[in-house]
Amino acid sequence: MSLDVAALRAQFPILAKTVDGKPLVYLDNAASTQKPQAVIDAIVDFYTNTNANVHRGAHHLSDEATRRYENARTSVAGFINASAREEVIWTSGTTEAINIVANGVGQLLREGDQVMVTELEHHANLVTWQQACRRSGATLNIVPIFDNGELDIDAFDRLLTPNTKMVAFPHVSNALGTVNPIKLLTEKAKAVGAWVLVDGAQGIAHGGVDVQEIGCDFYVFSGHKLFGPTGIGVLWGRKSVLEDWPVWQTGGEMIKDVTYHEATWGELPNRLEAGTPNIAGAIGLGAAVDWFKNLDMAALHNHEQALLRYATEQALALDGMRLIGTAPNKVGVLSFLLDGAHPADVGFILDRQGVAIRTGDNCAQPLMKRFGIPGTARASFSIYNTLEEVDSLFAALKKAKMMLA
Ligand code: PMP
Repeated sequence: MSLDVAALRAQFPILAKTVDGKPLVYLDNAASTQKPQAVIDAIVDFYTNTNANVHRGAHHLSDEATRRYENARTSVAGFINASAREEVIWTSGTTEAINIVANGVGQLLREGDQVMVTELEHHANLVTWQQACRRSGATLNIVPIFDNGELDIDAFDRLLTPNTKMVAFPHVSNALGTVNPIKLLTEKAKAVGAWVLVDGAQGIAHGGVDVQEIGCDFYVFSGHKLFGPTGIGVLWGRKSVLEDWPVWQTGGEMIKDVTYHEATWGELPNRLEAGTPNIAGAIGLGAAVDWFKNLDMAALHNHEQALLRYATEQALALDGMRLIGTAPNKVGVLSFLLDGAHPADVGFILDRQGVAIRTGDNCAQPLMKRFGIPGTARASFSIYNTLEEVDSLFAALKKAKMMLA
């Protein structure tokens, strides 16, 4: 079945905007996706009709807010096929979710233990482990990639040892678009008894995710990259692991019994959710998931791949355009450089044409250094982008080339 992109676009009010009189061509979806009306409505309706704190159940509004908030958790749990809804912990985003896990690892590991990440990491899934290793005395190992941006699986195998206690890798690289074989990597890491965290920030919006099938211990993602609001994200963790995981923040809601000198922790999910949560954010993310999961995933995948193919063909045909990241298994991310032009200048000229892309280090400085470049210009496609928008990107790029040559 093919995708009715026009009908899909009509659900995103922001896509009708113009920038300096030019139609907005939004190609910065890896940074953040736009929001469909269903998500905007859910947030407005919460604040208009049911705003109250949750889990304080003394009155009607609080009960209704709690019902919607917990329904959102159930929606997310179903979407990723969690085996229990309390495995879904609300966080402020991917970054906080990784920090919750790394905080625990920092307390649980000892000198001689090893943590493994890849050369592909976003800073959120690198710096956080550097800090956890520093606190625990563990060693951080980095799995290399090939020049096309693909992970070196043999090196992954070589670096895995019985001392490897934690393995973290991205589902999809934000900078290059590489899709990692997450099930295979998980199997290998579990074979030496390590915990496995998959950074799903870029993987979650490209089709279904089944955490039980992957077999990992933690899968984390941000709402804003899945057509939901900012400030909300998910730490999914296997119940048997999360039940004993060191708590991250302490305060209201996460406790069981408190005296002036002692406290005990509550059950999941509360024990990892201190304080008043982002209620509207969770409800907005629930609405995003309900909206997204009704779409035809195979049609979305085909459409995104068609956009990537079309863009890659044009990129290869454009003199002086260098692609960074050409792995065979990629999502719709085109990271590139134009000969003799700084990515920031390219981004500026594209913006004048209404074309929104990301420029810079992609929050992956070591990866940029690995390629010997300061950064890239990055166009990233989502389900609502069109082939005509790819044409607009390349028309703007040709203009940039002329102006910057
Ligand atoms: N990991 C990856 C792969 C990402 O792309 C991002 C966001 N760019 C993050 C982690 C961090 O996500 P957030 O800023 O929403 O916490």
